[in-house]
Amino acid sequence: MPWCEACSRFVEGSDTGSPERCPGCGRTVASHAAEPSAPWHFKLLVAAVVAYLGFRAYQGAVWLLGHL
Ligand SMILES: [Zn+2]
Repeated sequence: MPWCEACSRFVEGSDTGSPERCPGCGRTVASHAAEPSAPWHFKLLVAAVVAYLGFRAYQGAVWLLGHL
């Protein structure tokens, strides 16, 4: 059920997850299920974390090989 932030209430009648118009203010509100995928900056953050952890794993492997 979509949530209208302008009216601070739920918009009735949503079922398919498509954007709905709030009867109170007329704004288009989207249900949580219809939210787009993660924003680009979140993907960038995840990619950076993965790259960093991979680099750290590589460093750890090199350190381990040097101490065997
Ligand atoms: Zn509204």
